[in-house]
Amino acid sequence: MSPVTHFLTGWMLANSTVLSRRDRALVALSAVVPDIDGLGIVAELFTRNSAHPLLWFSRYHHSLHNLAFAFVVAILAFLLAEDRWKTSAICFLGFHLHLLEDLLGSRGPDGDSWPIPYLRPFSSALNLTWHGQWNPNAWPNFVITFALLGMTFYLAWERGYSSLEMISAGADRAFVSALRKRFQHARV
Ligand SMILES: [Zn+2]
Repeated sequence: MSPVTHFLTGWMLANSTVLSRRDRALVALSAVVPDIDGLGIVAELFTRNSAHPLLWFSRYHHSLHNLAFAFVVAILAFLLAEDRWKTSAICFLGFHLHLLEDLLGSRGPDGDSWPIPYLRPFSSALNLTWHGQWNPNAWPNFVITFALLGMTFYLAWERGYSSLEMISAGADRAFVSALRKRFQHARV
């Protein structure tokens, strides 16, 4: 699934309990971070017509989609969070939600299912796949993404903050007050 869908999922998870602003950001990021192994797509696209194309995306995407990296992320969250144990545990969960979403709807570009080597680099015994896996641009992904967007807007309207708080407090306030003006809210 797309990084946007993963991010919105992480944001929902972050708002399913009481967390500080910093800890919410960590949880939201935990659901996106497995895809940093896909950044090789930039090199691959730039070099695809060259004499020596770099196949970093084809080769390395999904190489951080494993349990070992989930622990790395949980430890980083523990070190960076305010509410350490809780945030770290939720980040571990957020990471796995990402894997689940990929299993559901990230069929590979060539139409093959895209297995998740869950125990790598220690073992290649367990490759997670789901036979019903759909393409990243199939309709269920759009439905899920729109539903998550709707919930994101509702939460911003209801709680008075949105994921924009991760970038700018001012932009976040402006967004929430615009939302609350547009859709009458008791606490405008
Ligand atoms: Zn992924």
